[in-house]
Amino acid sequence: MAKRSMFLLLLLSLSGSLAVQAAPLTVDVMQTSAGSLYTSISLIKGEKGAILVDAPFTRADAHRVVAWILESGKDLQAVYVTHDHPDHFFSMEVITQAFPNARVVSAPQVVEDIWKSIPLKVKRWGPMLGTNGPRYPTAPAALDADFMLLEGERIEVVGPLQGDHAHCTAIYVPSARTLIAGDLLFNEMHLWLGESLPPARKAWADSVERLAALGARRVIAGHKKPGLPDDTSSLAYTRSYLQRFEQSIQTSKDSAELSRKIQGAFPATIDVLDDFLLGTSSKVAMGEIPPWQE
Ligand SMILES: [Zn+2]
Repeated sequence: MAKRSMFLLLLLSLSGSLAVQAAPLTVDVMQTSAGSLYTSISLIKGEKGAILVDAPFTRADAHRVVAWILESGKDLQAVYVTHDHPDHFFSMEVITQAFPNARVVSAPQVVEDIWKSIPLKVKRWGPMLGTNGPRYPTAPAALDADFMLLEGERIEVVGPLQGDHAHCTAIYVPSARTLIAGDLLFNEMHLWLGESLPPARKAWADSVERLAALGARRVIAGHKKPGLPDDTSSLAYTRSYLQRFEQSIQTSKDSAELSRKIQGAFPATIDVLDDFLLGTSSKVAMGEIPPWQE
């Protein structure tokens, strides 16, 4: 064969192999407002399609998320819910009304948790949210695998693991080396420890090490102070917060003292709904109130 046609053949086979290889996925992040507890909502994007991870607490924030997805130009195929906390799925109906073809899914354990707790959530949060709350809150469908596919690329479900809830999941996108951590990681926002007794706090620390071992380049914390980058600093923050919280319990006589010590150790850290996160977490840790049931 002549040299020229050999070269042509090589070029053709190269372009052929490039054409069948899927482009890596990318991940965009939108943070909800204070009223929706500054939750990270992530959009995993392929060439044409997209998968949303978590949906906002309030209808107003859900409408902002709809606008953001529309502007991305992508076809929303699914919404994945990381865990059974209302700031991660409550106003889903706004998303599914705008994108009726999108399947709402989660890990089977999370689906079970949500079905159990929806009546309590509606009773607790409905009056506070009023017209800004969901009218038809419902649960996702259970995934039958621990991964999803978007345009041939794998999206891994990590967990359930102990985070601020007993059954938190995270999403890892290998082609983007990106970890969408859900409420397994926080950054400069007080950790929600209102449901956690000592074994759960220890298990959460172990979960952080498991996530660190994934080697993600980009890490999206479930909650962070607005303006912070989605980098690996949330791993170190969550780790050191859990350590300091445990140490401070040992040297505090009541929840007020524990709160003061944590605020002193993390002066830049924010709270939501006044001092809901640290206030409740401290009272539960010092045994002044029973663990919160959400
Ligand atoms: Zn949350």
